Amino acid sequence: MSKPKVGFYWCASCGGCEEAVVDLAEDLLKVVEAVDIVFWPVALDFKRSDVEAMKDGEMAASFVNGAIRTSEQEEMAELLRKKSQLLIAFGSCSHLGGIPGLANLWDRQAIFECVYKEAPSVVNPEGVVPQEQTKLGSNGYALTLPSFRDTVRTLDQTVEVDYYLPGCPPPVKLIVNAVMAILENKLPPKGTVLAPDKALCDECSRKATKPDKLALRELKRPHQILMDPKKCLLAQGLLCLGPATRSGCDAPCISANMPCTGCLGPTSRVKDYGAKAMSAIASLVDSNDEKEMAVLMEQIVDPVGTFYRYSLPASLLHRRVRNLTPSPFKGEGWGEGKKGLGERSGGAQR
Ligand code: SF4
Ligand code: SF4
Repeated sequence: MSKPKVGFYWCASCGGCEEAVVDLAEDLLKVVEAVDIVFWPVALDFKRSDVEAMKDGEMAASFVNGAIRTSEQEEMAELLRKKSQLLIAFGSCSHLGGIPGLANLWDRQAIFECVYKEAPSVVNPEGVVPQEQTKLGSNGYALTLPSFRDTVRTLDQTVEVDYYLPGCPPPVKLIVNAVMAILENKLPPKGTVLAPDKALCDECSRKATKPDKLALRELKRPHQILMDPKKCLLAQGLLCLGPATRSGCDAPCISANMPCTGCLGPTSRVKDYGAKAMSAIASLVDSNDEKEMAVLMEQIVDPVGTFYRYSLPASLLHRRVRNLTPSPFKGEGWGEGKKGLGERSGGAQR
């Protein structure tokens, strides 16, 4: 009997999700035994044309990691959607926009200015930036590059997605469970995030030391204190996002004395992870004095990067639409940008 065909693909990603597949270790051999991997550009020499030649729905499942930033990634998402019975958003970037989604604080022009002209390590006196069409050599060979969109999107803002494997990258245990559920046809309802639907605090080994009533008077960063390795990190004044984050990872960061940064995203009852995390922390502030509260909030370095680290594209705001600063290097921060590019508000969808 022929084995189910499976594909893996990466879009705007760091490669960590591909590593997570390799991290399956001997379980990877079990996966290879049970399925036929017919597309995995990072590891195997299959081409896009091989996928194009397949019948619609020929693949049992495709696992797509990374956010959607370019026209090529959109095309590949559409192609894999068509050729796969199940499309699984694999990892935070695909699920919620992820770290690449923080680029939605700027637009394409600001990003190109920064990356190709203003970054301290760049030497580009002629100010060359990538063009979609370039004529090369004496015979005028036309090189075409994918279009770089203004806005980073999640996979499900691009094509229909069947399931989500959360995490940055998804924990091995969740990947194995998902593959087994597909093979045994024991999948939950379509649209489910394939991880427990409860907060990380529930599975954290320090939960017994988390007071019922937490009172935050000061927030500290991990390098600023000598941590008690057994006590709840939030109770030690560290900004741990465990109360707002989905469980399923077995809290390895907490075990290493690092507060949870929220990579598994929200539980099903929450629409906007960042808003939920902010309100969870704000509700713990032990003061009604505005000045005291402002001092504590000042201790949250980079609020957008803290609360929307993995989920800006999936958030209700989706992207910054006003005061786009000239570039991350010349800008003055959220809400304080000079006019200019910032005059272009809204409409930057692609
Ligand atoms: S989810 Fe994390 S590990 Fe996976 S591609 Fe995105 S940044 Fe990398
Ligand atoms: S706040 Fe963080 S450290 Fe404390 S119980 Fe929750 S996940 Fe664990």
